[in-house]
Amino acid sequence: MEEFWKRVRGNAASGEGIGAEDALAVLSLPQPDLWRLLDITEGVRRRFKGDGVRLCSIVNAKSGLCSEDCSFCSQSRRSKADIRKYPLIGEEEMVRAAREAKARGAREFSIVSSGLAMRNRGELERVGNAIERIRSEVGIETCVSLGTLSAEDVSYLLSRGLRSLHHNLETSRSFFPSMCTTHDYEEDVRAVREAKAAGAWVCCGGIFGIGETDLDRVELAMTLRELSVDSIPVNFLNPVPGTPVEGRRELTPFDCLKIIAMMRLVHPRREIIVCGGREVNLRDLQSLMFAAGATGTMAGNYLTTAGRPAEDDIRMIRDLGLAVLPV
Ligand code: SF4
Repeated sequence: MEEFWKRVRGNAASGEGIGAEDALAVLSLPQPDLWRLLDITEGVRRRFKGDGVRLCSIVNAKSGLCSEDCSFCSQSRRSKADIRKYPLIGEEEMVRAAREAKARGAREFSIVSSGLAMRNRGELERVGNAIERIRSEVGIETCVSLGTLSAEDVSYLLSRGLRSLHHNLETSRSFFPSMCTTHDYEEDVRAVREAKAAGAWVCCGGIFGIGETDLDRVELAMTLRELSVDSIPVNFLNPVPGTPVEGRRELTPFDCLKIIAMMRLVHPRREIIVCGGREVNLRDLQSLMFAAGATGTMAGNYLTTAGRPAEDDIRMIRDLGLAVLPV
């Protein structure tokens, strides 16, 4: 066991990251090993990322009405969840949401739409117009999550001032068909590769607690490494009533911390942003996500569920002696 700890510390500290076998062992650690694990991950985070915390914020710009059947998603065609459904909001509303995000301390603002991909040129232009105005009028980093965009569409949005493109793989290649049957994993991988090739900062991660195993969690981490993604959002299932995963509660706060820690140790140099499901899964251990290796989190509401007040997050970050990174 001492060999394991030495190897994990050494590989992570070198910036190389740990291998799949050690990543799996991290996920199997018993509770008494929590503090030893956090001592390592905290050191790795500080060494490569410092003490700055990135806050990001989103607007659900097009809600529900999705053709896909992702099991965890309240906006999917299988979902009977009681959520608001609406077509793409207007440019003005996007800009207003960006202003509100900046006021709550966010460094980055993302325009998110439901659906496999935004293909309609008029809609893309509306998003492009909003990005240009958000850059010039609001002054906050811009991101979009519009599904499996083509390289050409990503290039168009970059030409309007976009910085980051978010597109999650959600889970491992092996588990994906148990979670979604309406499109293939490789479509998502292609979208991520094309966004990287087009020059976007790519934010790509997944959701945990949807029935996947530890092996699937490690497989996803390794796929993200192959793809050289820049930033990794980590979501935990908040099972919305009316979705196929309603009532599913698999993760303990300790499991969540081990998942964040495993991602930090596999990806010592990347951003790791803890997003949806943080409050309900980590509960009172939320602040330990930074010791586990997170470098950012989401402020404000999620797509269809409420987050806690941003002031509480900013106070938590300051109480830890960390700093919210300015725009
Ligand atoms: S995760 Fe995205 S693609 Fe899947 S059902 Fe939800 S909105 Fe549609």
